[in-house]
Amino acid sequence: METNPCNNPTNTGFTVPVRVSRESRPDGTIVSINGVEVGGKEVVVISGPCAVESSEQLFEIARTVKKGGARILRGGAFKPRSSPYSFQGLGEEGLKMLREISRETGLPVVTEVMDTRQIEMVSEYADMLQIGSRNMHNYPLLKEAGMSRKPVLLKRGMMATIEEFLLAAEYILNQGNTQVILCERGIRTFETSTRNTLDLGAVPMLKRLTHLPVIVDPSHGTGLRYMVPPMAKAAIAAGADGLIMEVHPRPEEALCDGQQSLYPEEFMQMMADLKKIAIAVGRDISLP
Ligand code: PEP
Ligand code: MN
Repeated sequence: METNPCNNPTNTGFTVPVRVSRESRPDGTIVSINGVEVGGKEVVVISGPCAVESSEQLFEIARTVKKGGARILRGGAFKPRSSPYSFQGLGEEGLKMLREISRETGLPVVTEVMDTRQIEMVSEYADMLQIGSRNMHNYPLLKEAGMSRKPVLLKRGMMATIEEFLLAAEYILNQGNTQVILCERGIRTFETSTRNTLDLGAVPMLKRLTHLPVIVDPSHGTGLRYMVPPMAKAAIAAGADGLIMEVHPRPEEALCDGQQSLYPEEFMQMMADLKKIAIAVGRDISLP
């Protein structure tokens, strides 16, 4: 019998893959990153530089973001750059720095893995594996991450529909790894004044369709520093379980994405504002 789409509570026009579907776990999934829980009442902030540049830079940022209330440190060691002539990241050296600074600050770390051949090495140093926007459609990588026991931060492909995003997550869950966090990070549209168009509508939709936690990246989602704090607020108001944002002590000297990286003072101020929004929508952010 034809089902009337008006009776479909999600009205998406596609079938939500079974393992990621909200129906399969109505209470939602909590992903634990070395003890930091994403998907509960607390809005979890992940912050750090776009790329690990040096031990000093990473330590300085890690101390700042921890003081501001970030619970997880980010930083790329393998960077997916549009130009082969741009800084590609420090590789294993960068991973060692992340591990070292995680030990010193107590912050778990997330870093990107770009290739199946990197999973084993990155897993030795990182608490969570990040699969970037450009690799959301890399099915062998998704499967391999699904075989790993590490939590996975899966970013939305810049040209992926919600359905494709959920199918990508399903690849990971299919291999037995249910510790997956989805990240809305902006999509390509006709608009060129921002780096991407941050699709905040994806947040309530994903929260309805899937049990997986959903976070938002307003740094890559806008590409513009001044837009990061307001879009971070909007993301929490829309129901995001967390945020991932880039911070740099001297953005003008950053080797990658300086134009969208917050200054430390901006980060501090923003965190205080975000806490108010979180409380207003029945969530919280625990500040030190
Ligand atoms: C990043 O977070 O470091 C990154 C490269 O983001 P994206 O994959 O969303 O472009
Ligand atoms: Mn970046």
